[in-house]
Amino acid sequence: MAFDYELFTIGGGSGGVRASRVSASYGARVAIAENDRFGGTCVNVGCIPKKLFSYAAHWREDFHLAAAYGWTVGEVRFDWPTLLRNKDKEIARLNGVYERVLVNAGVEIHRGRAEIVDPHSVRVNGKTYTAKHILVATGSWPTLPVIDGVELAITSNEAFHLERLPRRAVVVGGGYIALEFASIFNGLGVETVLTYRGKRLLRGFDAEIGTRVGEEMSAKGVRVCYGCEPAALRRTAVGIEIEFTDGRIERTDLVMFATGRRPNTAKLGLEHAGVKLAPDGAVIVDRYSATSVPSIHAVGDVTNRINLTPVATAEAMWLARTLFGGEPTPIDHDNVPTAVFSHPNVATVGLSEERARERYGAVDIYKASFRALKLTMSEEKERTFMKLVVDRASQRVVGAHMIGADAGEIIQGIAIAVKLGATKAQFDATIGIHPTAAEEFVTMREKSGSEPDFRQR
Ligand code: FAD
Ligand code: NDP
Repeated sequence: MAFDYELFTIGGGSGGVRASRVSASYGARVAIAENDRFGGTCVNVGCIPKKLFSYAAHWREDFHLAAAYGWTVGEVRFDWPTLLRNKDKEIARLNGVYERVLVNAGVEIHRGRAEIVDPHSVRVNGKTYTAKHILVATGSWPTLPVIDGVELAITSNEAFHLERLPRRAVVVGGGYIALEFASIFNGLGVETVLTYRGKRLLRGFDAEIGTRVGEEMSAKGVRVCYGCEPAALRRTAVGIEIEFTDGRIERTDLVMFATGRRPNTAKLGLEHAGVKLAPDGAVIVDRYSATSVPSIHAVGDVTNRINLTPVATAEAMWLARTLFGGEPTPIDHDNVPTAVFSHPNVATVGLSEERARERYGAVDIYKASFRALKLTMSEEKERTFMKLVVDRASQRVVGAHMIGADAGEIIQGIAIAVKLGATKAQFDATIGIHPTAAEEFVTMREKSGSEPDFRQR
């Protein structure tokens, strides 16, 4: 049977654009449908604008620090509309870049919402196209708990377009987005409360990292409330009232829920075509991103594996290589590094101490905690924290964790060593770059006791 295309991609975000472009570079005839702006979540309402906001929020501390270095900083004032305008301009530029990349690669663009009709056809704007392979790369969407008044709250989607910066804000959640936005609001001068239902932030990360980042954020002025689960929201004459299950009430101007995201699989025609979904709505795929229907594949957040942009693009490239490069390539989700752009930043690769103990039994732990040199002439008390988790039997470094300035930039390099299976002795044999914070990762010699000792230095 002659198909209109060899690949039809639904969704022009991180995964969809990469899969389409790389497949076209292998010579495949490719089409892509996007019902919003190219670049998807990451470019429009995720990684990029978030990091720009994070930079904006950091200036407050930088101005303080500047004074310790002899600079006289005049009266400082922050203008939210200027930030929004400049951010929107940059995002519009990136939307254009993404679209041009597709056009230049020879990918045909269909603007509109696409739906799967059967295992080899997709409908967009009332027209049906046939394809040998269909790729579902439709991403995910924020979820909110079902409680009274939840419609008064915003999610990260709206946070990027607020007309005015509120005076007070409550951010609900203890994951990536909650920590990042609580830090952004706080840095921009908003009275910020972070409310988390659990006892320790960043569930799934190394426990010490979760505890310590909460302490550091509190020290910077975020009021962190643990064991706080929202029960209801009410509009008041002056703002919003949020009531928690224990009866506590917080009065604020803005409530933002950062309580997770759900794969975008509703009304896509997936079940009708025979594609199996998980209970959370994610498309179930194998190690080659293949669904239960041989001609339909899925990558990125819609599969709810590791929901990060570089993972979506890697899955996309592996899929293109599998389908059109003559080189079937299974997914490799081991040792994916990640950063939370909270203030201070958190970054990690490999296993937490807890997971490493479960997997390997005996582990050696090395830690460092110090005030970064840049801060020592100021009142700023932020402590940089680093931790290496080593499998005692093989002496391989199986986890590296950091809280501190540019943690993501530093852990990206460490991740190469961890991915290559470097041993602690090989870390030790590496000469440091002085004076940097990163050099601590190759100079930690003392094993830590069984109790956390990061406050001793
Ligand atoms: P998306 O990028 O969401 O793309 C899906 C696309 O499909 C969208 O453009 C959508 O409009 C389109 N679409 C959906 N349904 C249809 C349809 N039926 N027809 C046509 N088009 C459709 N990750 C990081 O690695 N680093 C970060 O710093 C980071 N920060 C983040 C901050 C926030 C606030 C959020 C929400 C996420 C962040 N992420 C970050 C996660 C990252 O954005 C996602 O993992 C990534 O965008 C997933 O890519 P994707 O291709 O799977 O989906
Ligand atoms: P996360 O899964 O990271 O965090 C969700 C948080 O909300 C958790 O703390 C969870 O608590 C809490 N929560 C869930 N349901 C409820 C509820 N009903 N009531 C109260 N609290 C609740 O999701 P995010 O929304 O923060 O981000 C989604 C994903 O996007 C991330 O997991 C990550 O993959 C990606 N992302 C990546 C970023 C980066 O790379 N820097 C930045 C932003 C997002 P509990 O822990 O108890 O379950």
